[in-house]
Formats: sequence, C-alpha cells, structure tokens
Amino acid sequence: MARGHDYMDGVRGRSWSSSTGTAGTVFKARIQCGQCAAADTVQLRHVITPRHIDLKFIQRGWRIPPRLCPACAAESKEKKSMASKPSAGAVKATAKMFTLLSQHFDADNGRYVAGWSDGKIAKETGMAPEAVTEFRREAFGEIKEPAEFALIRADITTLEKLVIDNHASITAEIAKLRGQLAKAVDKMGVPA
Ligand SMILES: [Zn+2]
Repeated sequence: MARGHDYMDGVRGRSWSSSTGTAGTVFKARIQCGQCAAADTVQLRHVITPRHIDLKFIQRGWRIPPRLCPACAAESKEKKSMASKPSAGAVKATAKMFTLLSQHFDADNGRYVAGWSDGKIAKETGMAPEAVTEFRREAFGEIKEPAEFALIRADITTLEKLVIDNHASITAEIAKLRGQLAKAVDKMGVPA
C-alpha cells in the first residue's frame, strides 16, 4: 500500500525494513544508486520523512536527485567540469577568433575581406582550422564566395579609387590651365 513515503513504499530505488530487539525497534532505510549497484543504509530510531532520509545520504556524499552514489556523483561532476570549463587560453583564443571574424568576415554576403580566411584566423588565434570553420559556420554562416573573388574585388576597389584620384588631379590641372589661359588673354587681348 502506497504511503507517499518512497522508502516505506519501496519505490525509486529506496526500501525500508525494521527489526525489533532488546533496544527497541530500529528502522533501516536503504537507497540504491541509479547508475551502479552501490547501496547504502541508515538506521533510524523513528520514522522520518523521505526528504530527511535523503539528506542523511546527501551528507554521506550521495547526490539526490538524480540519486547517485558518492562514486558516481564524483564521476559525473568531473565529466561536467571538463565539458563546461575550457582553459583560460581556450577562452582567449575563442574571443580573439570571434573578434577577427567580426572584423574580416562579411556575414551578409558570406565572404572574407581580401587576405582573410578560416586558415588565417586559425593561424592568428592558434586554434585548429576545423574549429574555426565550424565556429564561423555556426556564428556567422557559410562562405558563399571563394577567397580569390575577394582578391579580385579588392583590386577593382583599388583601381576605382585610382580613377577617382586621377580624375580629381586631372580636373585640377585643367582648371589651372584654364586660369593661365584667362590671365594671358586679359594681358594680351583676344586675338581677332
Ligand atoms: Zn553509483
């Protein structure tokens, strides 16, 4: 019959027994690890709530929930800390990679600015090229244009700028010559 007491009901890896001797009745609450065969028992002078019994096991190193013996609890803690705590160096490298990608990868158009690539970012940050590729894909998106395109694009930009600069200086030169001509005409009068 269920009593709403996991130990007395014998559910969730818990069980209960009692024995009466010369010293009176002694209750035994037992818990079994949800991951291995390890089990532990506490002796009780009187009935207490399942939560209070759990706390006694927690004091002995059990983890409840999810109901792990001290050995399994330590192992899962170790795994967790290995997975969630990268070294300080790795954190710095990741931050640098993020900065470089923000500066040199045009996420909207899926292309690197000239001279930049996953490989170059890997070199600058000391990260594995595959790690950079994976991170760039997740955070910034796919490359839609090969690196050579970026180089050609940069050349076009340079030439365009050259055209604008030259155009400006030639225009200035023409203006200067027009000025000289005007002065000469003023001095000498317009020939008939
Ligand atoms: Zn265990």
